Amino acid sequence: MPNIPFHRYICIILVLIIPTGKSFSQSIPDSLRKKLEHAAVYDRPEILNLVAKNMVYEYPAEALKYAKQALQESDHLGNSNQYVKALLLIGDSHFYLEEFEKAEENYLRALDLSQELEKQDLIAHSNYYLGYLYDTKNDGEKAGQYYEIAIAMYDSLNRKDMVAELSYLYADMLTKKADNYLAKNHFDNALKIYLNSGRQNDAAETLNSMGLLFYNMGNYEKAIEYYNRSRELMQKIGNKTGVAQALNNLGILYQNSGNIEEALNHYQESLRLDDEHNDKPGIAGTFNNIGLIYAVKGDNNKAIDYYEKSLALYEELDNKSGIATVLNNLGESFMDLGETDVASVMLKKAITIELEIEDKHGVAFAYATMSEIYLQAGNLELSRQYNDSSLAICAERNIPEVTLAVYENYYKISKAAGDYKNALQYFAQKTALKDSVFNKNLLKQLSEVKAQYELEQKEQEIALLNSTNQISQLDLKNKQDVVYRQRLVLIIVLGAFLAILAALFFLYRQTREKRAAFKSLDEKNRELLKNREELIIAKDKAEESDRLKSTFLANMSHELRTPLNGILGFTEVLRTEIYDEVYREMADIVHTSGTRLLDTLNSIIDLSIIESSRMDIDHQKIKLDEFVDEAITLFRASAFKKDLLLTGETESDFDYIISDRKVLANLINNLIDNAIKYTGDGSVQVKAIVVPENESYQLKISVTDTGIGIDNERLKHIFDKFRQGSEGHDRQFEGAGLGLTICKKYVELLKGRIIATSESNKGSEFRIEIPVKVSGSVSHNQPDADNIKTELPLNRHEAPRVLIVENDDINLKHLVYILKSWCTLKTAKNGDEAIGHALKNKFDIILMDINLGAGPNGMQTAKRIRLIEGFADIPIVAVTANAMKGHREEFLANGCTHYLSKPFSANQLKNIIVDAVA
Ligand code: ADP
Repeated sequence: MPNIPFHRYICIILVLIIPTGKSFSQSIPDSLRKKLEHAAVYDRPEILNLVAKNMVYEYPAEALKYAKQALQESDHLGNSNQYVKALLLIGDSHFYLEEFEKAEENYLRALDLSQELEKQDLIAHSNYYLGYLYDTKNDGEKAGQYYEIAIAMYDSLNRKDMVAELSYLYADMLTKKADNYLAKNHFDNALKIYLNSGRQNDAAETLNSMGLLFYNMGNYEKAIEYYNRSRELMQKIGNKTGVAQALNNLGILYQNSGNIEEALNHYQESLRLDDEHNDKPGIAGTFNNIGLIYAVKGDNNKAIDYYEKSLALYEELDNKSGIATVLNNLGESFMDLGETDVASVMLKKAITIELEIEDKHGVAFAYATMSEIYLQAGNLELSRQYNDSSLAICAERNIPEVTLAVYENYYKISKAAGDYKNALQYFAQKTALKDSVFNKNLLKQLSEVKAQYELEQKEQEIALLNSTNQISQLDLKNKQDVVYRQRLVLIIVLGAFLAILAALFFLYRQTREKRAAFKSLDEKNRELLKNREELIIAKDKAEESDRLKSTFLANMSHELRTPLNGILGFTEVLRTEIYDEVYREMADIVHTSGTRLLDTLNSIIDLSIIESSRMDIDHQKIKLDEFVDEAITLFRASAFKKDLLLTGETESDFDYIISDRKVLANLINNLIDNAIKYTGDGSVQVKAIVVPENESYQLKISVTDTGIGIDNERLKHIFDKFRQGSEGHDRQFEGAGLGLTICKKYVELLKGRIIATSESNKGSEFRIEIPVKVSGSVSHNQPDADNIKTELPLNRHEAPRVLIVENDDINLKHLVYILKSWCTLKTAKNGDEAIGHALKNKFDIILMDINLGAGPNGMQTAKRIRLIEGFADIPIVAVTANAMKGHREEFLANGCTHYLSKPFSANQLKNIIVDAVA
C-alpha cells in the first residue's frame, strides 16, 4: 500500500503569522533606519521594536539586538507597553534561532507582565506565541491550551482575522493529532470568517486542509467534496498552485479507487501547473505520487527514479514529513525489488523522522511495510508485531488505506503460518473495507468532479478563445492605431525635419551674420588695440616730453636765475653805493628790469608746476587779519608811489583759517599788484571775510580798484594764458599776461573760484571764494624773510666765520660783497677746494652752491665736509639756482641744513645766516 503525501503549503504558517509580527523582510528598510536615526528618545523603543519585527524571521540574531535595545530603553523610560512588545520580540528572535527555551522564558515573562498591566491585546499575543511555540515543539496539549485562550481573547477583542488564523493553526495541529472533531470545528470557524471577510485564498486553503481532514478520517466522499470546493475557489481566484494541489489530492483518491490512469492524468495536470509556478513542494509531492503510480504498475525502477527526485526536493525544502513519506515509498519499492536490507534502512529512517514529528499516519504505514519485509524474510513473529503496531494506530486514527494493507499482511502471515481460517477472515475484512470506502458512489462522485473540471476547463478555453478573439480584434485595432500612429509619427518627423531644416537655415544665417559681426568686431578690436598701442606710445611720448619739459624748465630756471642773481645783487648794491643821481637811476632801472624778469620767470615756472599737477597743497593755520595786513604792507610803498589809497579789511567770527598760506599769498599779492598797476588814481580796497556755507566755511577775498577797468569782450578771456586787457603793438601795460591765469589755477587748486567784474574806466573787482576750515588756535606764523629787517646778533663777540663755495665768479663776488663787512670769509670755487679749507680751518657756516661744475657737486661736498672732525653739525646753506619743486627737500636730505634760492636779496641772505648760526 503506497504512502501518499498530502502536500500542503509549507509556507502557510509563515503567511498566517504576518499580523503578529512574524513577518520578515530582507533587511531594515531605509525609512525605519532614518526614523531610528532621527527618533526622539521617547519614540526610540517603538522604532527599535519595529526594526526587530521586520528582521526577526530572516536575521533573528540581529533582531535580538534591536529587541534587547528596545527592552533596555523602554525600561529606562518606563514604557511598559513597548517593554512587553520587546519581550515578545526577544522571544521571537530566540524562536527563529531555535532556542526554544529562551523563547519560552521571554514569552512567559511577557504574558505575566501583560496580565499585570491588564493589556488584553498583549495577553492575547503572548498566548498566541506560546501556543505556536508548543505547537512547534509538538506539545499539543500545552499548545491547545494557549491557542484556546488566545482565540477566546481575540474573539472578545473582535479581532476576527486573528481568530480565523489561530483557529486554522489550531485545527491544523488537531488534524495532526487526529483530534478530528475539534479540528473540523476550528476549520469551520476559520472558513466562515475567511469567506465572510472575502479572504478567498485563505478560504480555499482551509477547504483543502478540510479535504485532507476528511481523507484522514476515511471519509473520502467528503474529502472529494472539499478538495473540489478548494479547487473551484482556487480556480476562481486564479491560484494555479492551489488548483494543482487540489488536483493532486483528487488524483490520490483516484489512485486509491484503483483508477490508475485517471490518477496519473490528475498528477500530470497538477505537475504542469506546479511547474508553471515552480512550486517546489507541489512538484515534490506530485513526483512522489507519480512514483506511486509506477509502483502500482509494477515498474519499481521508474518509481524509484521519481521518488528520488521527490526526495531531493523535499530535502532541499527541509520538509521532514515529505522526506519520511518518500522514504516509506522507497522502502516499499526496494522491498518489492527484493532489496530488503536497503528497504529496511529506508523505513527505519522514515520511522525515526515520523516519530519525531509525530506523524502517526506515516508510522502506521512504515510499520505495515516493515511487517511485509519480515513476512518476506519469513520472520512471521516480527512481521506480526509490526502489523499489530500499525493496526493499533490505524484503529486510533481511522486510516483506511493502511488498514487495508494491515489486513492484507494479516492474511499473508496467517496463510504463511498455515492458519487459513484467520487468513480467510482477514481477506474478507479487507474486501469489506475496500468496498465500504471505495464504493461506487465514490467513483461516481469522482467522475462528476472530473466532468465538472473538464467543463470548467472547456468554459475557460472558450473564454480564452473569446479573449483571444478580442485580443485579435484589439490587435487589429491596435494595428490600425499603429498605422495611424506611424503616420502621425511620420508627419511629426517630417514636420520636425522641416523645423530642424528651418532652424538650421536660421542658425546658418545667424552664424553668417555673427561671423560678419565678429569680423567687424575683430577689426574694431584690432583698431582699438592699435589705437591703444598708439595711445600708449603717445602717452610714453607725452611722459617723455613732460620729463624733457621739466628738465628744460629746471635748466632754464637755473640758467636764468644765476645771471639774474648777479644782475639783481649788484644793482641792489649799486643803488646804495652810487651817489650820482643819473647813474643811480640807471642802476634802479636795471634792478627793476631784473625784478620783472625774475617775476616773469617765477610766473612761468609757477604755471608749469601747477599745470604738471606737481603742486602739493600745504595746509596751515593762518590768522586772517595779520595775513591781509602783511599783503597791504607789502604794497604800501607802490600804492604810495601812485598816490593811491590802499586799505585792508577783515571780517570773521574766527581768528584762524586753515589753508595754504603760500598759495593764498600769491593769489592776493597778484590781485593787489594788478589793481595798483591798472589804477591811475583813486583807491584799492582789499576785503577778506569768512562766511559759513553749508557745513563748512568760505573765505571770500575781494580786491576792488577804481582803475581803468576791462571791457566786456576782453573780460571773457581775462583768465586765459597770455591774454591782456590791451594786446598787440598798442598795449599800454607791460606784463606776460600770466598773472590771472595762475590765480585761476591756484583758486582751482584750493577748490574755489575766481570772478571778475569790471566796467571800463570805472574800475574792477576781483573776487575769490575758497572753502576753508576754521580753527581756534593760533597758527605758527612763518614770517616772510623778505620783510624782516635783519640785524646781526649783538651778543656775538666774533664775526661769524663763513666758507663760501661758489663756482660762478659774479655770484661769488656778490656774496663776498654782501658779507665781507660782518663775516670772516673764505671762498672756494669747487668741492675739493672747499674740503681743503675745511680740513685746515674752522667755520661757523658754509654757503654751498650745488652746481659746482667739474668735481663733486654741492651735496657731495657737504657730505664729505661733515665727515671732517668738528664739521659734523655745521650749518650748510644750499645757495642755489635750482629752485624747482623738490630741490629744497633733496638738498636738505643730502648734507645741507638750510636752503636759499637764487636770486636772493641781501636781507634774505643775512637772515638765513643769523638763523643758522644762532
Ligand atoms: P599781466 O598783468 O601781466 O598783463 P594778468 O594776467 O595779471 O597779466 O592780467 C591780464 C590782463 O587783465 C591785464 O593785461 C589787464 O589788461 C587785465 N587786468 C588785470 N587786472 C586788472 C585790473 N585790476 N584792472 C584792469 N585791468 C586788469
